[in-house]
Amino acid sequence: MFNKLKFTLVELLMVISIIIILAGLLLPALKSAKDKASQIKCAGNLRQTGYGFISYTGDYNGYFPYSHIPDWCKTGYSGYWYRVLTQYWPESLGYITGRQVEGRYPASLYCPSSNSLSLYGQSTAGNYGVNAYLSCNPPKSIDRLTKVSSGILLMDGDDFSIGYDEVDDFAARHYGRCNIVFVDCHVDKFKKSDIPYTPAWGWTPYIYNWWCASNPP
Ligand SMILES: [Zn+2]
Repeated sequence: MFNKLKFTLVELLMVISIIIILAGLLLPALKSAKDKASQIKCAGNLRQTGYGFISYTGDYNGYFPYSHIPDWCKTGYSGYWYRVLTQYWPESLGYITGRQVEGRYPASLYCPSSNSLSLYGQSTAGNYGVNAYLSCNPPKSIDRLTKVSSGILLMDGDDFSIGYDEVDDFAARHYGRCNIVFVDCHVDKFKKSDIPYTPAWGWTPYIYNWWCASNPP
């Protein structure tokens, strides 16, 4: 009886050891699969949001929305691009009413690889930044782009708009890369070092063209 029990304990230890070894092999593979799924989900979010941008340009003579409208009293809108786009998201329950968005923001505003529901600050939401070159001072028209597949719309970011000297707000959340959706709504991945920018506010013709597929205004 004692020998049998001893043998059983050895067997148990062997089984535990095998489980530990298998877990050590499988867990990295599971994490990698989870990271890949997050990257794909993020790309879908960006693509869907990109469709919202393009729908907006269709309703506003080709112009992109402001990244941020500071004076909501005059415009009736309360700031950020994602509020202006709310009505174009099929999943959205919200609608713009002055300073407020009634309802909730769409889940597609949130990258599954981000832990934050609001990286932009207290009054903002989401994990993506719009191309500041296209949506600032004032917004540009889609008709300016010589190649829509080269114009950047939106990307993984830690600010509501990215560009100029704000490239540090790029969030490389997926294998050291950030997802970017272009004006034709295809998504690609870039490292920070792949993206040209000026260290100070402004641009060069090359940088502007890289971001917007058009010459500076
Ligand atoms: Zn992402």
